[in-house]
Amino acid sequence: MAIRGSCLCGGITYEIDGTFGRVVNCHCSICRKATGAAFRTRAAIRTEAFRWLSGEEKLSRYNSSPGETRTFCRVCGSTLPTFFRDHPDEIGLPLGTLDDDPGVKPSAHVFVGSKAPWWEICDSLPKFEEGPIK
Ligand SMILES: [Zn+2]
Ligand SMILES: [Zn+2]
Repeated sequence: MAIRGSCLCGGITYEIDGTFGRVVNCHCSICRKATGAAFRTRAAIRTEAFRWLSGEEKLSRYNSSPGETRTFCRVCGSTLPTFFRDHPDEIGLPLGTLDDDPGVKPSAHVFVGSKAPWWEICDSLPKFEEGPIK
């Protein structure tokens, strides 16, 4: 069954077929800046399972680090998938833009070494100072 998502203004919509890969809460400073939140919950998705349904022309791109391109809606600013030059077969999907229940939950906190000082992790998931994100 396809899982759908969209940006805040609804101008960009997407769909994912198939299963989700590992889900983590990433506390790195780049994810915090990009989302404006304490962490970004992201899932690894096979690129071939992802497709834009509408509004792809509203997408803006930002190279947050070498080989890593973050996307967002240029109208409302919602953060959308991250693409990787060195492993184009996979994308990083921020779960906050999903409209459906993906049936998966985070399994770890990563880049806890960069965590915001104002946020306490209160669950018992494993914590990693850095990666792995996958
Ligand atoms: Zn939007
Ligand atoms: Zn991150």
